[in-house]
Parts: sequence; C-alpha cells; structure tokens
Amino acid sequence: MESESDIKTTPRGFHCVLCKVNLPNQSSVDQHVKGRKHQTLSNVRSTRKTQEQHSVFVSGINSDTSQADLADYFQQFGNVSDVIMDKDKGVFAIVQFSQTESIEAALSCVKHKMKGLNLRVKPREKKEFKYIPKQKCDLQNLQQVLDHLKPQLCQLPCVNAQIQYIEKRFQLGDNEKKARNLLVELLQEVFVEFFPDSQILPFGSSVNTFGIHSCDLDLVLDLENTKVFQAHTRTTSEPQAAECMSDDGRSEDSILSDIDLSTASPAEILDLVAAILRRCVPSVHKVHVVSSARLPVVKFHHRELNLQGDITVNNRLAVRNTRFLQLCSGVEERLRPLVYTIRCWAKQNQLAGNPSGAGPLLNNYALTLLVIFFLQNCEPPVLPTVDRLKDMSCEEEECVIEGWNCTFPSQPIAVPPSGNTQDLCTLLAGFFSFYAKFDFASSVISLREGRAIPITDFLCRKDNKEENPTRPYQSGPRLGPLNVLDPFELSHNVAGNLNERSQKCFQKACQDAEKYCRSLQYLRKSTKGKSWGLVRLFTPSGGVSQTKEDELNISIPFKPSALPEALRGQLQTAGEEFRSVWFEKVCGSVERVFQSVLRCDLVFSSGFAFPENSAAEVSAEMETSPGPLNTSANDGMDSPTSSAAAGAKRRLSDDSDMSISPQGKKPRMSKRGKREPPYWLWVQKHPVWAGRRKVRRELIKDADLRPEGSCLEIEAQVTDGIIEKEEELKEPLDFKVQAHVVGETESTKVELKLEPCSDQAGVFQDFVHFLEPFLPKMVESLLAKAAGGAENGPSR
Ligand code: ATP
Ligand code: MG
Repeated sequence: MESESDIKTTPRGFHCVLCKVNLPNQSSVDQHVKGRKHQTLSNVRSTRKTQEQHSVFVSGINSDTSQADLADYFQQFGNVSDVIMDKDKGVFAIVQFSQTESIEAALSCVKHKMKGLNLRVKPREKKEFKYIPKQKCDLQNLQQVLDHLKPQLCQLPCVNAQIQYIEKRFQLGDNEKKARNLLVELLQEVFVEFFPDSQILPFGSSVNTFGIHSCDLDLVLDLENTKVFQAHTRTTSEPQAAECMSDDGRSEDSILSDIDLSTASPAEILDLVAAILRRCVPSVHKVHVVSSARLPVVKFHHRELNLQGDITVNNRLAVRNTRFLQLCSGVEERLRPLVYTIRCWAKQNQLAGNPSGAGPLLNNYALTLLVIFFLQNCEPPVLPTVDRLKDMSCEEEECVIEGWNCTFPSQPIAVPPSGNTQDLCTLLAGFFSFYAKFDFASSVISLREGRAIPITDFLCRKDNKEENPTRPYQSGPRLGPLNVLDPFELSHNVAGNLNERSQKCFQKACQDAEKYCRSLQYLRKSTKGKSWGLVRLFTPSGGVSQTKEDELNISIPFKPSALPEALRGQLQTAGEEFRSVWFEKVCGSVERVFQSVLRCDLVFSSGFAFPENSAAEVSAEMETSPGPLNTSANDGMDSPTSSAAAGAKRRLSDDSDMSISPQGKKPRMSKRGKREPPYWLWVQKHPVWAGRRKVRRELIKDADLRPEGSCLEIEAQVTDGIIEKEEELKEPLDFKVQAHVVGETESTKVELKLEPCSDQAGVFQDFVHFLEPFLPKMVESLLAKAAGGAENGPSR
C-alpha cells in the first residue's frame, strides 16, 4: 500500500514523507494514516498521477490557440477529457485523454499540424508529488509572508481594514496558545517535583496579547516560596526523582543532591534548571545557560512544538510588566492592531528584532512601549499615564516588586474610555510623525509620567534616588541615544542597547514613513490593482525602488513590438549600437513629456541633444523669451526655481554627438569616450497629476472642447485644464531626472531616477506615483509617432 511506503522508521520513531511529520509510535502512525491530512494528500497525489499517465505535453501553440482547437485536433487519437492551457504565456498546453492508449497514438504521429501551426507533442514529465507546507505568518520570513498577503491587503477597502487584517494574520492562534499552555503545565509538574511550591509563570509575548506565530515562550520560575521549603524538597523529591532516570542512567536526585538553595548563587540555580530540563522533560533539547544576559536565562527548544523557550528565575518584574501590557490592550482596542503593524514595519526596515537576542536594535518590548507612549501623548490621550493608572487602582491592587511601585488596576473596566476617536490609519501616521520630530538626544521617555523629560532635568532630579527606597538609585539608567524608561523599574532604560546609528535609522525610517503617510498612495486604494497603503509602507525600499534618500526610479522597458517599423529598421541597422540609438530616442521623448505634455519648466539639462522631436527644440521654437544659451550650470543648480521663474532655459547642444558639461563649456565625455547619461532639472508649479481623469472626461464629453489628434495632445490639454482650474502649489516642486540605460539585450530598459531638489509642498511622492504608469505610456506613444515623421509636439 502506498501509505505504508510513506512511513519511514527513524531513530526516534516514524516519519511520514508525504505529510512531512514525525510520529513517535505505531499507534500514532495508525491514526495519522487514517487522518484527514494524510487522506487528502493521498487523494491529490493519486489524481495527479492519473492525470500524468493520461496526458501529453503540447508546445508550438500561440496566444490565439484555444482549448477547443486543441480538443478538436487531438480527438483523432482518442477521447479528450481535458485541455489545460498555459494561459499567461500561450506557450504550452496539457492535453488529457480518457484512455492511456491514446497517448501512444498521439506520440507515434510524426507531424502535428493544426491551423498552420507545427505542434510538438511530448510525454508528460514524471514529477514526484511534493507537499509544500503553508508558510507560517511569523516575522522570520516576513517578506515571503507579506508577498503572499499583498493581493489580499490591496483588495481591502481602506488602511484601517489593512491594519486589522495584519493583526488577525499574525496573532497567535487558539491552538498555538493551547499547545503553549500544555507545555507550561508539563513544566510546572516537573519543576514542582524538585522545587516544591515553585511556580512556572509565562510572561512576554505568549501572554501579553502581542504574540505572533512562533514567538518564543518566556517563562519565570518563581522560587519565592521554595526557599522556605528547601529541606522538604530535598527529602520528598527523592522518591519521585528516583523514578525519573536520566539518559546516562543516573537518578534525578543526583541533580539536587549537593545544592543548598538558600546559599546557591543564581548561576547554580540556572544550572539546576538546565539539568532538570535536559533530563526530565520529553522533547526538550538544545538546553543551554546564558549567564551573560542582563537577566541570566536558560534557553531550550521544544522539538514537537518547534518552540524556543527561555526560563529566568524570580523575574517578577517581567511578569508584572506583561500584566501591564495586557491591561493596556484591554483598555484600548486600537493598541494591538497598531503594535502588530508597527512591528511589521520595524522588522521590514531592520529596526527591531535583534537576530540573536543581543544587538543594537529595539526589542519588541521597547517598541511596544514606544507605541504606548505615543498614545499617551495624543490629543486627547488614547491611553493614560502609568501614574494615572496607579491612581485608578484600589488598595488591594497595590503592588511593589523589588521596591518598585507596580500598582495599576487589575481590570480594564476600572479605566475610563478615551475621548480620542482617531482611526487606526490616522494613529499609525501619527506615530511616525510623532517620532519623526522627536528630540531623542535630549529627552528621557517616561511612560510613568507620560511625557518626555528633558535629560538635564532628569539628571539633576533629586527624587530619582527616592523612587525606590530599597534600591537607592546609585547608577541610574544607562542613558544613550534613545532613552525609554521602563514604566516600573525606573532605573532601567529598555532601549539602552541602541547605538547612535540604530537610533538615527529609527528616526529616519519614521520620517520616511511620515512622508509616505501624507501621500495618496497611503490613503487611497489603487483602482489599478497597484500596491497602496500598508503594502508600500512595508516595502523596505519605500515602494518605488528607493535607492538613495528620496530618490525614486521609473523604468521604461525596451518593447520592440510596440515600435513602428521604421524605427525598428533604424535599430536593426544600428546593430550593437541599437541600445544607444533607442536610449537617445527615449530620452528625447521623456524630455518632451515633461515639457510639452506636463508643462514642467526646464531649468537645466545635460547630456544628449535631441534634434528631432525634442522638447528642447519644440520649446525653443515656441518660447517667446528663450533663456541664454550659456547659462552656467551652477546658477541652475543653486537656484533652479529662480532661474526657472526668470525663464532661464539652457538649450541643448546642436551637436548630437557631444554632451555638454554643466559648465556649458566643454563637451563632457567619460574616460572611455562614452557620453555621460543625461539629466534634467525641472520645476512643476501645478498639481498636474490631481484629478486628470475628471478633466479628461469633461474634455472628451464637451464636443466644443474635444481635442483632435493623439493622446499626447489630449494629455497636454488635460494638463492645461488643470493649470487653469487648480491653484498653484504652495511652493513649486523642483526635481531632477537622470536617465540610464541598463539590462541585457532582452531586458534593456531605461531607468529614470527622480529626486526632489525642493519639495516644500510635500508632493514629490504623489507626482512620481502618477508618473509611474503615465510616463512609460506617453514615451511609448511618442516613439510610435516618431517614425511617422517629424511631428511637433503639442504646444501651448
Ligand atoms: P518577542 O518574544 O515576540 O520578541 P517579547 O515581548 O516576548 O516579544 P522578549 O524579548 O522575549 O520580548 O521579552 C520577554 C519579556 O521580557 C517582555 O515582554 C518584557 O516583559 C520583558 N523584557 C524584555 N526586554 C526587556 C527590557 N529591556 N526591560 C525590561 N523588561 C524586558
Ligand atoms: Mg518573548
């Protein structure tokens, strides 16, 4: 039976190669093969096998070939039960017969001619059926997960829905929580044998309501009561411990035999915990003690649950701050979706999640506190300060740990709801804006007071020393580039591990995100199925392949099929040089789109001259007061707006083989004698991207206004319509465009790098978003027309 061959024996039991699961014993194997997963996969596998055995692979078709054509044609070899087409490319098809004999008949036919096509017919390749388990939504493979979620996210109606979706997809599932609880119970049973009255308490993301799939399991071994019973432990543990034999045959009482808990050092206790884990807890492996951590910890891995676990001893402050996070989630339902979203953003931008625990990045606890602090500082506040929470609690809720006051209400109901009604989309943008401007260097973030304390005030605060009378404030927190005081352990900076660079990266990422959140791409769902909202926010490069600060790229691919015959002939004659010829044509068209279609003012240009169809030419002809030919580049660079305002325009050289240096004196050649790539400085004073569709519709509807001619002319009139109706931008947008030709013969493309020189109105991203599809389409139209003869562009 096939199921039998799927089960392999391993040194630790069995393994099902079909479902890729380990099974500890024969009875679980029996159950597994009868189970739904194994049955479904077996059925899929046998269906695929039948299909393989009944079908042939057909190539040589084209995009016009239909399923019906193929079914008709292959019917001569036997009954055709199905035809599967490779729809996208129209390159191949799978033809399935009812009888296997038909395959032989089809294969033995030497020539397959169908509707003028020579078909090639081959046997199907025999592929082994492989089950690829679904990706889990954890942050380790976040990019893959987000790629997978992208279509769903883009289909949602608004950013609020996207934020809620992220929360749902990443949060811990009920089954995962149950599995964790079971492990906690098991550990509790084992540890209580050795440490009577001890408690194993989960804390951190497994229980603080911010857990994600596969987050670690943080545990505290609370030995508070155990010290009292240590003699009892030693005597009573022996009989039970004796039952628990280690791998090496020693009984477990040897673990305890020479440890006196009352005098044991923390390191000795951790060794003890590690020994118990190794010897007495099934499925636990990779146990090791990390004594160098701020709080020494025993790390382990649970094989069956594929779970990383950490055990610290007597870490009651962490249990309490976990309760605090739980309370905040209970009080304010907008907190969780925001934290999940900000965690994704931070992870994607490599701002959080130190790969091996220690490192200069924010950890998730610190990041969550930053979100809470922001919410405390909203207007009106979304969450109260920790001091306010203390005032809201009753006497029984008073809690002091290691001298630190950790009092807050045990139930969210005790906290009055916030008067702030901002939605998630606004709050997320607010988070970025808040930290984009935050003065990290001179402040200490205090969630307790809900405000940033100036560092100078903080350092000379007398009462710092009185915060914790049992632990006088000798050293104070380790202050650094980013200071976030723990809400309870006030001598601890939870972001003390960050260095200057990581703090700067965090702030820069907030500034970029803030800018993005002001753009239409963040706020408005794309009607063309493009990335928008969170999807672009999560793209590490900022969406449109951001390379340098603020620089955005737009590509114009080489599409020979879209070119007119005359131009194709020209390119063919150019041989190896076809790229330069095409590049030059594209650059000429780009210039023309900016100038004649979008009515940008040309401040300066350098590089090729575009004698035919060039905007420079067109504008030179049309310009009533052309600028001086020898305008110095520095004039243009230093003050593009002023030179544009004065109508200063630099005309390109008439010598098409030479490029002009910005100094305008010598032709600029690279060392190898090649022309340097061209660039332009432009000014746009109007929001020519806004509401184009409406203006276009009106133009086309209104018979009197209906423009004659090409789409370029229509688009130029649309621009003029906007310029007439819309107000000028508060400040003109000055930007630079650089062109490069890149790629191999097949993948040749022109890459345009766009960079803002001055964008006081904050519109650059919107402009580029509009240009992304618009510019390549316009260039394509211009190239198509170029061959039709010297057609002057639309003029004003
Ligand atoms: P995740 O494990 O998903 O990264 P987490 O919140 O569990 O998130 P850990 O680094 O595992 O983060 O920390 C576990 C818990 O330990 C935190 O929830 C917090 O209670 C406490 N903790 C972590 N870092 C600090 C810190 N720097 N200062 C104080 N307590 C901390
Ligand atoms: Mg954790």
